[in-house]
Amino acid sequence: MDGPEVLIIGAGIGGLTLGLMLHRRGIACRVYEAAPEIKPLGVGINILPHASKELGELGLESALTRVAILTREAAFFNRFGQLIYREPLGRDAGYEWPQYSIHRGDLQAVLAAAFRERVGADRLLLGWKCVGATDAADGATAQFVDGVTGAPLAPQPGHAVIGCDGVHSVLRKQFHPHEGDPVYSGVNMWRGVTRWPAMLSGATMVRAGWLNPGKMVIYPIRDRIDADGRQLVNWLAEIETPHYLPKRDWARPGRIDDFIGPYRDWHFDWCDVPALIRAADAIYEYPMVDQDPLERWTFGRLTLLGDAAHPMVPRGSNGAGQAILDARVLADELALRRDPAEALRVYEAARLPATSKVVLANRTMPPDAILREVKLRSGDRPFERIEDVISREELAAMSEGYKKVAGYDHATLAGGPAAG
Ligand SMILES: Cc1cc2nc3c(=O)[nH]c(=O)nc-3n(C[C@H](O)[C@H](O)[C@H](O)COP(=O)(O)OP(=O)(O)OC[C@H]3O[C@@H](n4cnc5c(N)ncnc54)[C@H](O)[C@@H]3O)c2cc1C
Repeated sequence: MDGPEVLIIGAGIGGLTLGLMLHRRGIACRVYEAAPEIKPLGVGINILPHASKELGELGLESALTRVAILTREAAFFNRFGQLIYREPLGRDAGYEWPQYSIHRGDLQAVLAAAFRERVGADRLLLGWKCVGATDAADGATAQFVDGVTGAPLAPQPGHAVIGCDGVHSVLRKQFHPHEGDPVYSGVNMWRGVTRWPAMLSGATMVRAGWLNPGKMVIYPIRDRIDADGRQLVNWLAEIETPHYLPKRDWARPGRIDDFIGPYRDWHFDWCDVPALIRAADAIYEYPMVDQDPLERWTFGRLTLLGDAAHPMVPRGSNGAGQAILDARVLADELALRRDPAEALRVYEAARLPATSKVVLANRTMPPDAILREVKLRSGDRPFERIEDVISREELAAMSEGYKKVAGYDHATLAGGPAAG
């Protein structure tokens, strides 16, 4: 696999997936990562069937199944712990591919191990921080400094440069220097992980309450982690508040007293929520911010992918998934076309509108809009029977609506990834 290489900036979920996909199509590539080592950072994320299909086609299903939870159902509760709606997910919902709930670090480790084994350890360069890229008719060049010392490193020539460098993308800033600040959604978020006994089916994604006074999302991400058979349970608290720290830092520690108030009396038969929060191993605070969709990602042989291209509020389990779908379309186009600039243009034409829809849907019609609706219709009070508040058909229709936009309803999945 000699010849001009595609330079991938960032060894996150999108960058490593792209590397594996290019390699499969016989296209040489290198991944440049700013961090000096790949550490298991972050907490839980979900890979929905449209994205797990792509990872399955890369032959990663068994590696992922070993470390993830195969999520079986979604359950929605009001803030009094009453069940509103339950629906199967992943294979249990008839998809050919599972839904994985997984620690972000485990997903990145699976991808990095596969990349090192298949593409070569020497093609994953750590401690290389990209500071810019230039485009020319006959090639592209990326500029770097040492990720730790800041000392300049040799510029790297390539066939194309793909910015998979996440929410603080250097290439995005280079392309759009006057872009506005991230847009705060009005909701702040605290995320954590707790070692906890299995609840409900043992593979249930719970969403409960609503943003004011507080919503919780709870799901397991690792199974049987100790002799007592406990799971590692990921949870996130979302609270409507004008107070937030604008800088996006995935590792900013969170403080229990800043957010436990609305959940103090959430002692339900399916989970003692305040106890779950208090027993956390780690808690992080992160503002629910996104950025307005861009008009353009591609400049000649340079383009953006994943969070660098379309940062979205981390809701709806779509950050990693959309990055994986981007990688599939970009790899296909680079394999299909002689001219990389043309491949990058076609990729943008397919993925920019599709991902913009997801960014905007996450703002107005999130996957758990069901909870908002029930809160409004019930006057935020306990109900006798959910059927008196809203019909099952309406609940199912709302849930399907989001799947369509995000591209994992059954019909879209049968059609292929470009529709996003
Ligand atoms: C440390 C961390 C923790 C996260 N935790 C969570 C979480 O708990 N829950 C959640 O939903 N999402 C989390 N995310 C975001 C999530 O991974 C992404 O939304 C999603 O997977 C899309 O992936 P991506 O490849 O576009 O970006 P990312 O997965 O963010 O990957 C970007 C990569 O680029 C590298 N990079 C950045 N700048 C440069 C540069 N100048 N040169 C070279 N490399 C660079 C970063 O170190 C990172 O490895 C986290 C991201 C990071 C980086």
